[in-house]
Amino acid sequence: MGDIIDIAIVGGGPAGLTAAIYGARARVKTVVFETGLPGGQIVSASWVENYPGFPDGISGQDLADLMYQQAENAGAEFRTISPVEAIRPEGNDYVLSVGGEEIKARVVVLATGAIPKKLGIPGESDFAGRGVSWCATCDGPLYRDKVVAVVGGGDSATQEAVYLAKIAREVHLIHRRNELRATECLQEQCLFHPQIVLHLSHIAEEILGDGGKLTGLKLRSKTDGSETVLALDGVFEFVGIDAQSGLVADLCELDELGFVKVDPNGLTSRAGLYAAGDVSNYKLKQVVTACARGAFAVYDAVHYLETMVAGTA
Ligand code: NAP
Repeated sequence: MGDIIDIAIVGGGPAGLTAAIYGARARVKTVVFETGLPGGQIVSASWVENYPGFPDGISGQDLADLMYQQAENAGAEFRTISPVEAIRPEGNDYVLSVGGEEIKARVVVLATGAIPKKLGIPGESDFAGRGVSWCATCDGPLYRDKVVAVVGGGDSATQEAVYLAKIAREVHLIHRRNELRATECLQEQCLFHPQIVLHLSHIAEEILGDGGKLTGLKLRSKTDGSETVLALDGVFEFVGIDAQSGLVADLCELDELGFVKVDPNGLTSRAGLYAAGDVSNYKLKQVVTACARGAFAVYDAVHYLETMVAGTA
């Protein structure tokens, strides 16, 4: 085992990158473990309109790049080769298993985020990545002048429907209830958009295909039980997120949906183990709140490290 890390941050999305900035600025040894390109889920957000400082909005990728640059400039270290496979406590410290190596850290900040949920309907797995997508920025450009559907009624579905309407000829937005859940301004953008056709109170029942090609989506009306088949080129699913909390499931308390329970400082039910961003169980899941949670976690963690050194923890 090499030198002990003060703060090991697992995950390089907005929460992890902000935690890295705060850790490095506090001059404690801060290492971010991230397998892909830093940025997390915002990399797949087409446009972020509500992060202060960017009055015209900014693409998720550009915002992620800027945060990464800032964390690096501050002096945070990044290890991006292998995923963290396990975390186990050892005395007051933690040991991370990473690519066959054991790495010791005094504090861990889990910022592993969340992944998009799947609908789990027939046809979905047959056309996953070949017509069914969970990322409009990644796959949207494949649907220029085509017809697509977006399933969901939250911020992601409405935001990405508007983005897709800039590329596709027509976007069908399908939601299971009779009103959208999204923030008002996102709802308005969909309700009055000439290329977005809203199907409220409809359930997406089956993704249809012909040989290797997705051809449509079968809908069922919740009002009268009638069936509609939409002829489509692609289906985008935005029906919520699942916490990526597996690494700490046996170490600290999770809520009933699998999100890590934290106090206002981001501390989990275990000393020295913090969680920040979408993986943790606070309600308002936004880029700005993920960043704030990363800052809170590291602020508390630095005090915890000081008390450890002083022998008062
Ligand atoms: P979400 O807010 O949980 O919304 C999920 C949507 O999918 C809901 O409308 C839900 O319907 C629907 N749904 C869930 N399961 C379904 C199923 N099996 N079949 C059909 N529909 C189903 O998830 P999200 O939109 O992915 O957002 C995740 C978090 O990120 C939220 O906290 C959100 O505010 C945040 N976010 C923020 C922004 C932004 O600020 N610009 C952008 C994206 C995401 P019901 O309404 O009936 O439950």
